[in-house]
Amino acid sequence: MAGKKGMITIDSELCKGCYLCIAACPYGLIEIFDELNQFGYYPAHFTGGNDKNRECTGCATCALVCPDVAIEVYRE
Ligand code: SF4
Ligand code: SF4
Repeated sequence: MAGKKGMITIDSELCKGCYLCIAACPYGLIEIFDELNQFGYYPAHFTGGNDKNRECTGCATCALVCPDVAIEVYRE
């Protein structure tokens, strides 16, 4: 039986590069993107989790810690 699955989107123009979400994700699914956004920050980037052992559960921890409300969480 499949567990809960989720995904997130990160608005790279809202992101201020504080990286709280990177520290918060229990599966290490968020990384720093290597292109600057229009405000000069390197935004956080959802890596998708193609690895079965590191799938997004839609727990929303990342979204809760984001001070700029840049993360939307979707659950299947
Ligand atoms: S917590 Fe929000 S503002 Fe901070 S890096 Fe993550 S998406 Fe960007
Ligand atoms: S919803 Fe949970 S598992 Fe998915 S990216 Fe955010 S913190 Fe990680």
